[in-house]
Amino acid sequence: MTPQHHPGDDLLIAYAAGSQDEPVALVVATHLALCPRCRKEVERLEALGGVLLEEQEAEPLAEKSLEQALARLDEAAPDEPAQPSRQLARRSAEVDPVVPRPLRDYLGDGLDQLDWTAFRGLEKVELLPEFPSFRTRLMRIKSGTAMPTHTHDGSELTLVLAGGFSDESGHFVRGDVAEADPSVNHQPVADPGEDCLCLAVTDAPLRLTGPFGRLLNPFLRI
Ligand SMILES: [Zn+2]
Repeated sequence: MTPQHHPGDDLLIAYAAGSQDEPVALVVATHLALCPRCRKEVERLEALGGVLLEEQEAEPLAEKSLEQALARLDEAAPDEPAQPSRQLARRSAEVDPVVPRPLRDYLGDGLDQLDWTAFRGLEKVELLPEFPSFRTRLMRIKSGTAMPTHTHDGSELTLVLAGGFSDESGHFVRGDVAEADPSVNHQPVADPGEDCLCLAVTDAPLRLTGPFGRLLNPFLRI
């Protein structure tokens, strides 16, 4: 089944332009691995960007400098997807089939070897600590578990890798991207039957809003 919830156009445009911070680009790239529709859209945007760039460059150039510009274009490095920022000493021969390639490159020896911390039905592990203005986390929510109701000071992008969850904005399964911002006050609940594995990137702490939110906040740190 192809994803039903896609990143917004602004995210796809920024991805195609290569102007995204790595944690956000990682979410988009991982979604693209699972979503033919958005792959096609990003290809279209990249082609469009190339045409615009050509037009912009061609206009003021004399013939000779056009030649030089084209030569420079040949020298330019080809576009490449975001590269893993860590050198991986070795990669598990047995990869996690549930994790698509762009993300897999960040996971070293695989899901089971990560340094998970657990609290009440939620396991999490931090990725990309070298980007401290974001929190990039893999989360495993036990099937049927409800997360505390919360909102966000900034934005939250969540990509489902396995299982699924529901909140006030819909039902999200593998490949789907949920976007939340300060206007969203939600309580995600993992589907029954299978733990929900997801990749979540936030650019500001989230704020618990339920009756016990303030009390739980220091313990949860989600
Ligand atoms: Zn998509």
